[in-house]
Amino acid sequence: MTILAHHRYSVHPPPSERVRGQVKDWLPIFAALGVTLRGRGPWLSGRCPFHDDHSPSFSANRTTGSWRCWSGCGSGSVFDLAARLRGIPFGEAVRLVADIAGVPMNPPPRRRSGPPRMWGTWR
Ligand SMILES: [Zn+2]
Repeated sequence: MTILAHHRYSVHPPPSERVRGQVKDWLPIFAALGVTLRGRGPWLSGRCPFHDDHSPSFSANRTTGSWRCWSGCGSGSVFDLAARLRGIPFGEAVRLVADIAGVPMNPPPRRRSGPPRMWGTWR
């Protein structure tokens, strides 16, 4: 079933990857999630939303959506950020980010065989 495996990843990438491929600038997404970022270039800094931050410990890349707190709150993608900030599952965070970004999240066309895939569990 090599064709199926190929099909799965080329035509139906995980929703988080589909959203990621559509967003060219993550700054508005960070802003919509309540993280204010400053700076020039791809890496911006701001106050970390996860701890009582008095200096900008939070770095985020507006091109890739990656972020990191230098005080130890962790790092991840915008989806991880949304999930942690809102206390929602990863799949819901992907939908939230897609909604903010204006990326349509229509279910992909159904495959010819097999049960429906649990899209929300994909990373
Ligand atoms: Zn932090």
